[in-house]
Amino acid sequence: MDGLINSGFKLGLAAGAVGALLIPKLINRSTRKKAVTIPCPVVNNFADIEKKENCLYILDIDETMLTFKGMGTGWWKKMFNKNLRETNDVEYSGSLTIKQFIQAITSEFPTGTDVEGFWELHRWCEQSNGKVIFLTARPEKIREITENQLKSVYEGLNPEVHFASDKGTKLKELSKDWENIVFVDDKIHNLTDVKALNPEVSCYQFEPKKYLTPLTHSKR
Ligand SMILES: [Mg+2]
Repeated sequence: MDGLINSGFKLGLAAGAVGALLIPKLINRSTRKKAVTIPCPVVNNFADIEKKENCLYILDIDETMLTFKGMGTGWWKKMFNKNLRETNDVEYSGSLTIKQFIQAITSEFPTGTDVEGFWELHRWCEQSNGKVIFLTARPEKIREITENQLKSVYEGLNPEVHFASDKGTKLKELSKDWENIVFVDDKIHNLTDVKALNPEVSCYQFEPKKYLTPLTHSKR
């Protein structure tokens, strides 16, 4: 795990370059008007997701499969706004926020959300001609770290991970041969983007609150 963390820090240093690719998306999110959201069921465990045969289940990773101490759903917005207040430079703040995100997720051990429930869903897929894959907005440069984090929490898992900041377009590409598709994510904007391009997909919003550990007042 030390190796994993060290390589994570190296990648953190290189995050400026990664950030350059993702900044436009981040800036758009920070400045655009609130999108019209599409209601979808809110769940905080995987057992409440409908079990369908011949189904591709596409799951988000951060705050859906994994959580990190001190990081929550509002982390990105809070950190970006703080950086913007301090630097008054939108582009630099975007780049800095991505660097801070990579540092945060590679210097902490992740915790699983509903580990038992996930395995139940995984077993269902094995017996019903289905499949579970992962779709994250993390930069692909941290593929190895991401896969190792999933494997460390969900022992025995051989994860198929896909990387895209535009989840709607990527999901369309990933799911084209499937009869049934389910998408699970904690972020409304991802669910909205996916549903807009893929209206046939069953979407669920994952509520991670009960799995989050605050940075202070930690019991560990
Ligand atoms: Mg997420």
